[in-house]
Amino acid sequence: MTETGSDRPTVAVIGAGVSGLSAAFLLRNAGLDVTVLEGSPQLGGKLAVSEVGGIAVDSGAEALLARRPEGTGLIGELGLSGQLEVPGTTAAGIWTRGRIRSLPRRQFMGVPADIAELAGTGILSEAGLARAAQEPTLPDGEPATDVSVTSRVGGRFGAELVDRLVEPLLGGVYAGRCDDLSFDATLPALAQAARRHHSLTDAAASLVPASHGPASPGRGAAPDQPAPAPVFATLAGGLGTLPGALAAASGARVRTSAMVRELARTPAGWRLTVGSAHAPEVLEADAVIIAVPAVAAGRLLAGVAEPAASALREIRYASMAVVTLAYPVAAFPGPVTGSGFLVPAVDERTIKAVTFSTVKWPHLRATRPDLHIVRCSVGRLGEDAVLQRDDAELAALAAADLAEATGVRGRPADARVSRWGGGLPQYSVGHLGRVARIRAGIASQPGLAVCGAAYDGVGIPACIATARLAAEQVLAYHGSRARPA
Ligand SMILES: Cc1cc2nc3c(=O)[nH]c(=O)nc-3n(C[C@H](O)[C@H](O)[C@H](O)COP(=O)(O)OP(=O)(O)OC[C@H]3O[C@@H](n4cnc5c(N)ncnc54)[C@H](O)[C@@H]3O)c2cc1C
Repeated sequence: MTETGSDRPTVAVIGAGVSGLSAAFLLRNAGLDVTVLEGSPQLGGKLAVSEVGGIAVDSGAEALLARRPEGTGLIGELGLSGQLEVPGTTAAGIWTRGRIRSLPRRQFMGVPADIAELAGTGILSEAGLARAAQEPTLPDGEPATDVSVTSRVGGRFGAELVDRLVEPLLGGVYAGRCDDLSFDATLPALAQAARRHHSLTDAAASLVPASHGPASPGRGAAPDQPAPAPVFATLAGGLGTLPGALAAASGARVRTSAMVRELARTPAGWRLTVGSAHAPEVLEADAVIIAVPAVAAGRLLAGVAEPAASALREIRYASMAVVTLAYPVAAFPGPVTGSGFLVPAVDERTIKAVTFSTVKWPHLRATRPDLHIVRCSVGRLGEDAVLQRDDAELAALAAADLAEATGVRGRPADARVSRWGGGLPQYSVGHLGRVARIRAGIASQPGLAVCGAAYDGVGIPACIATARLAAEQVLAYHGSRARPA
């Protein structure tokens, strides 16, 4: 940035969520002068921690997929592996048809690998189960283009399986609707496996452990088997502590309340207009990494890389809220078991997912063993009306659903509502093509890269993977400029 008078090549990273901060951290030893510009007063974007019932808990993302290497790997590079915590249990349920029922172990995002096991859970009605059981015998039929999850999975197993099993699971990730979400983009592993198998049941079976093996930690490994690697992890102080650690270790200049309003090309690089319209500040940089949600990225790229900007504007976002409730342990009618449960949209409840945080993450019990922390997620794409309730009303609605599902008695001892307007990008039908158009448009702009949840996956490891790619692209750009012609 010219403001520093640095003679090193300068990089501006726009957005200090986990993607932008990871990119800055990954550039730390490259001899570049990196500035991160964050529009809001806080770092972290969708990662944040605050206290409920005297316990510091995540109000945004709370679990890191440990089966992918990028998240735990980055935490290792930060020297924080010692702070990783693993779940006490990952056994989850579905609240439907009158009670909380165990999720089948042998399913891939709700697509069953074992119809007999699914039958035992009672999640589907008799008619729904009979329809789902026909799937392996249906004729092959791979669609020629991308279609919705409802069309692909519902077409094979029937609508009830999508409504009661697949949508709750995908809804947990995207807060989206299966009739809108892309099969290829939201279930890429299954889409790939489906090309090698006659049925989706067989494709799902190829992706989950065999029936005799333990499906996940917390369910007990056979005595002669090594314990399976944990599927998820978090940090002792919450995933919301990751942004601060990344910022500190990056060596970058990290500025908050620095909203980037405009981006323009200059003969030598890029010009950024930062701050309010009344008192704008102009910064210059050799390279720019845009690490903001698609809507904001589309705005910044309007007139700069129009094809990419218009594809970015097509990506919609779902808003949601996390209602975190603290209850005395004694308020529950019995021991709380399992990591939580999901709620199908067809059942028309306020809550769409519940995590028993103090059961899933045993380390949280240390400060207040007398309390249970229960995290309720509210809001899916198109369900904005419920989010217009004030905090007290939303907390009361969530508590009422929870009481009906679990039998918990009395009012919570403490409650917190965290709102995530535009929280999750929707990978709608055609998403992969859209991302290809965005990346092609960006590649035509020297010294420009993008990263974040809008592209190759909304989970934190996927975001970090895009950050690594963006950092590599910027390094390659500087490398090419440094080489003599
Ligand atoms: C409630 C919730 C729960 C989730 N739970 C999980 C989970 O358990 N596990 C998991 O893996 N993932 C989870 N996710 C998804 C994951 O947290 C996000 O996809 C990820 O954190 C997004 O990171 P990001 O850096 O790409 O974007 P963001 O976190 O959105 O960061 C972008 C940043 O850019 C800033 N910004 C925007 N415009 C500008 C501008 N013009 N100038 C400067 N700054 C700007 C924003 O203020 C923001 O700080 C969850 C998401 C939500 C909403």
